[in-house]
Amino acid sequence: MRALVKAAAGPGFVLRDVPQPRIRDDEVLIRVRRAGVCGTDVHIYDWDAWAQGRCRPPFTVGHEFAGDVAEVGRFVTDVKVGDGVTAEGHIVCGRCHLCRTGNAHVCPNTRIIGVDRDGCFADFIAMPATNVWHLDDAVSYEIGGIHDPMGNAFHTALVGTEMSGKTVLITGCGPIGIFAVGICRAAGASRIIASDVNQTRLALARTMGAHDVVTPQEATKAVQAATGGLGVDVVLEMSGVPSAIHQAFALVRVGGRVQMLGIPAKPMEVDFATEIIFKGITIYGVVGRRMYDTWIQMTQFLRSGQFDPTPVITHRFPLERFDDAIAAIKSGEAGKVVFEVG
Ligand code: NAD
Ligand code: ZN
Repeated sequence: MRALVKAAAGPGFVLRDVPQPRIRDDEVLIRVRRAGVCGTDVHIYDWDAWAQGRCRPPFTVGHEFAGDVAEVGRFVTDVKVGDGVTAEGHIVCGRCHLCRTGNAHVCPNTRIIGVDRDGCFADFIAMPATNVWHLDDAVSYEIGGIHDPMGNAFHTALVGTEMSGKTVLITGCGPIGIFAVGICRAAGASRIIASDVNQTRLALARTMGAHDVVTPQEATKAVQAATGGLGVDVVLEMSGVPSAIHQAFALVRVGGRVQMLGIPAKPMEVDFATEIIFKGITIYGVVGRRMYDTWIQMTQFLRSGQFDPTPVITHRFPLERFDDAIAAIKSGEAGKVVFEVG
């Protein structure tokens, strides 16, 4: 089968023929139809410091996908050949303190497909049956293939906070930030202010339902105008940029909540006294998707039609054009980029 492989320590990917994965008794083999390309794949492609510390080539890259089941192991009972599926890409141990208390999204033994083991930019992928998520008939493989980053946005927007009627600032309108705009809108936020430095991305945020789209320089004024100077109830920090993180703390209201998804590239200084403690705010660190509350919420929002992520997908490429797919992400002009695998 074809697979996009991180072949060696160094930049780039190689599309090559590799043996089809063999499944264990508790696994399923999935024929990949659509696969989302993510910033993580760009880090691995570039072979930056994070990738060098984490990844051990050779392995097949990619962690966002949907397809149909081609084969099931003999212990698998609730997944059948032909089912349309996607999957949670974090493979957890199921045995540790976190897994056993309903917090598998922060299992310390997590292994991620396309990072720690073979991923989905290939004709087939083997997955534990417990990670498989069935798609409704009405959900396309393309939408199925972006459940992973959409799930990041659902997790960030909906955990620990009642969105109905809330004022929200979303800092960073990458694909996940743009999904979050649509989710907050569907969940009944009363005012959604989205900030980014990139006008293409702000236009996408507007399409997904943001009431105000602003540059970081305009954000303070917009938040003050929308909240009578109080600050927003909730900030979804989705850029990972230090200046945006400081802005999140500055523009959340006293007693408000900051949901932190964006990952700063290196350690940063925070004035805990003034930015956090005396404001009485709550900070929530987002890791992946909650298993499987986030997946249930996502499925129900899609099923109801109250949330449609389609406009976020701006670029589609065959697997052979992986260099173009990576370039599209790096350009900053893309929403979500997907591979049409088969
Ligand atoms: P992305 O890089 O495409 O989006 C970040 C956006 O922030 C860009 O559009 C950029 O223009 C914008 N930005 C830059 N400076 C800004 C500023 N000062 N104010 C507002 N916006 C600014 O990334 P993405 O794929 O949408 O992911 C968003 C973030 O979430 C990234 O940091 C990514 O690493 C992180 N992430 C975290 C998890 C997790 O589990 N915690 C999972 C996936 C991604
Ligand atoms: Zn665990």
